[in-house]
Amino acid sequence: MLTPLIAGNWKMNTTLHEGVELVMGLRERLKGVDSVEVVIAPPFTMLQHISHLIADSPIKLAAQNVFWEKKGAYTGEVSVEMLKDTGCKYAIIGHSERREIFKETDETVNKKAMALLRDGLKPIVCVGETLAEREQGVTLKKVKAQVKAALSGVSGGAVREFAVAYEPIWAIGTGKNATSAEAEEVHGAIRELIFEMFDAEFAKEVRVIYGGSVKPDNIDSLMAEPNIDGALVGGASLKAADFARIVMFQPV
Ligand code: PEP
Repeated sequence: MLTPLIAGNWKMNTTLHEGVELVMGLRERLKGVDSVEVVIAPPFTMLQHISHLIADSPIKLAAQNVFWEKKGAYTGEVSVEMLKDTGCKYAIIGHSERREIFKETDETVNKKAMALLRDGLKPIVCVGETLAEREQGVTLKKVKAQVKAALSGVSGGAVREFAVAYEPIWAIGTGKNATSAEAEEVHGAIRELIFEMFDAEFAKEVRVIYGGSVKPDNIDSLMAEPNIDGALVGGASLKAADFARIVMFQPV
């Protein structure tokens, strides 16, 4: 049985003061949690500070993005090594907001994935379809192509470092989550693809997590599905009580 992964993506929210308050609230509520891997992804500017605040807690740190080069003339970018310096263990890559607003592609997501593996951070790769794609019936085709591209060139056991976050774009920040059954269908297809691409002993360790309007009132039914190994949470990760309740899900 895989350890569930619940990750909070703060996006471009919180001042340092608000971020510290949120983390202190989480620390208090998540004391002693050890059956779930809990990750938070604050903005770059406060990673270092928050890293100290969570040092003796079960909470781990992620970045919301990364650049693939090691160093050099790349104004505004942050390398894997720099993120490791702050205490990060994970980086989210390929979020639909980055694909849509910043024109990231399957190819650049793959470059980021390879750089994370090369320099020792775990990738959380986001994939997902638009509403139009779902209505055209091409959800599985789109999502499988994204996963295939992101994992291209990954060899053998390295795939164990990955988590894949299925995030239907129409469900992100809209309050309209995929039903457990809709999510399960896509998660099953992603899992099947990973088993086709990699040896079973490695493929079985890849967590496939769901994102898109996850809230305290829908996490329990999502986590009851066999192929949903956790959640990537946006809005609800900004409230300590809500995020802690999501971490303490009770599958029904
Ligand atoms: C996200 O941005 O990864 C996300 C899932 O956001 P929300 O939970 O707010 O829909």
